[in-house]
Amino acid sequence: MRIAILNKDKCQPRQCSKECYKYCPRVRTGDETILFGDDGKAIISEELCAGCGICVKKCQFGAIMIIGLPESLDKPTHRYGQNGFTLFGLPVPQKGKVTGILGPNGIGKSTSVQILSGTLIPNFGEKTADWDTVLKHYAGTALYDYFKLAASGQLRVSQKPQYVDLIPKAFKGKTIDLLKKADTSGSLDMLVDRLDMADILDRDIKALSGGELQKVAIAACAAKDADFYFFDEISPYLDIYQRINAARLIQEMAKEKGKSVLVVEHDLAILDMLADTVHIAYGQAGGYGVITLPKTVRVGINQYIKGYLPEENMRIRDEAIRFETHPPVEGPDIKTILSYDSFSKSFENVFSLEAKGGSIKEGEVLGIVGPNGTGKSTFVKILAGEIEPDSGEVGIDVKISYKPQYIKADVEVRVRDFLMDLADNFGTSFYEVEIARPLQLASLYDNMLSDLSGGELQRVAIAACLSRNADFYILDEPSAHLDVEQRAIVTKVITRFAESNGKTAMVVDHDIYMIDMISQRLIVFEGEPSKSGIANAPTTMKKGMNKFLSNLDITFRRDEETKRPRVNNYDSRLDREQKEKGEYYYT
Ligand code: ADP
Ligand code: SF4
Repeated sequence: MRIAILNKDKCQPRQCSKECYKYCPRVRTGDETILFGDDGKAIISEELCAGCGICVKKCQFGAIMIIGLPESLDKPTHRYGQNGFTLFGLPVPQKGKVTGILGPNGIGKSTSVQILSGTLIPNFGEKTADWDTVLKHYAGTALYDYFKLAASGQLRVSQKPQYVDLIPKAFKGKTIDLLKKADTSGSLDMLVDRLDMADILDRDIKALSGGELQKVAIAACAAKDADFYFFDEISPYLDIYQRINAARLIQEMAKEKGKSVLVVEHDLAILDMLADTVHIAYGQAGGYGVITLPKTVRVGINQYIKGYLPEENMRIRDEAIRFETHPPVEGPDIKTILSYDSFSKSFENVFSLEAKGGSIKEGEVLGIVGPNGTGKSTFVKILAGEIEPDSGEVGIDVKISYKPQYIKADVEVRVRDFLMDLADNFGTSFYEVEIARPLQLASLYDNMLSDLSGGELQRVAIAACLSRNADFYILDEPSAHLDVEQRAIVTKVITRFAESNGKTAMVVDHDIYMIDMISQRLIVFEGEPSKSGIANAPTTMKKGMNKFLSNLDITFRRDEETKRPRVNNYDSRLDREQKEKGEYYYT
């Protein structure tokens, strides 16, 4: 089966010569394969289209996709009209369980959630939709009772939005006011306690950091008395301890209160411990999406990482995502690019940072891990020369390019002009192959920076950081808002960039999978959040992870099949054994 997709926002028939129509061989032989609707935009007949793909190439706005669908697909669950995005399958929320969706952005998770919230009636690819048809369709399946409730208008839904940075635009006032409004279950005190939010209740929403906004959003969603809960990513801006904490809270909602919880989560270590089952989502962003039947969480994540779904007989990626144990980058042959001395910094006697001196080698990627509020950003800002330390000379005389954790897009400029201005080699084949293509920038070039979504902005910000001419590249939380595919790509881009240019990169991140794949050595931060922090000297992955995880009191093992790290259940046999041996990371 073949589908033709028209992106109506991109189709601008007044600004082109209707090349799709002009060059379509079927139109030229007299068929009405392409017509123009009342709104002037193209309509492509899937029955008449021969699938040659000429219109796709000819459209200067990239508005058309012609997609050959996998044969195994049956009737769609929903289609947004003729030539619209098509969804196959649906996730199945279960009472008392956390159900995960694992897959890239843009392939139907919001559509699925709208259907499951009862705000969108699925049309099964037909022109009209009604609940009777839906109930008939799902009769005898796990979704029947669910849709019965939705059809009666009695389904109560609570959702956490993906982009918490937008909350201050939607709500003005104090944190406590937002939370009280959401709290229809009477669980606010418990949530404030569990998520450690007492200190921020009286603060204005617009004064909160990203991590604080994330906690508020999770608490607000959990505080609502509902039947169906949807958390669209809980991890961005939270440190690993906070992620695990939030994950445990959500699991309890399902297990102890018998709620149906659906989560989308791109931090696989967190998804692994949070979800009972996962549905894998695959397809083509903006074109079609398939939600598979549920799989147990370990099997689902492993299949996803390997890139092949045996039950569906579907390859979703050419290669597996690989986790490797890292050889230590040591020895006299690797040049030290810079050394820094110990330094300290305090802010108005409220927070103090002690950094131990260290050296950084040419071509290496250093991971930085540690709890929020222990001075990681302060540390990199001092290295970057943005802030002066109180004592100690950093002694760095190299050029630094820095991507901050919170990216602002407050300049009115197009992505192409923004990057062209920064990169001397913009447009060269090196830039194209190493940066633009893997980060999928071409489709963003004509957009204004301020119109980009969180994930798009992140990709542009990473490209911008790597575009500057510098000796030393620092990226603060590059994983935020990227899906699993994009995280794997960004990991490759940064590693190759450092290697092939002989440059050094430092990556601050809380996604253990990304840190595991990207870092050759680690800098571990410790301390009491918002009071004091210690930046340890760079050390090997093994020593660093051991220190980091022992501070968190959690242990990881490696999955035998894929070598990916997995969180051990607290106080399980393995957890206790590893702790006894002092091996918090892989054994
Ligand atoms: P991290 O990056 O690990 O989250 P930061 O370096 O951003 O930590 O912050 C550590 C602590 O320092 C926080 O409690 C923060 O509120 C405080 N802090 C950071 N910058 C300033 C500043 N300019 N003035 C006062 N306090 C600050
Ligand atoms: Fe015409 Fe279909 Fe070829 Fe497009 S892909 S030019 S609609 S035949």
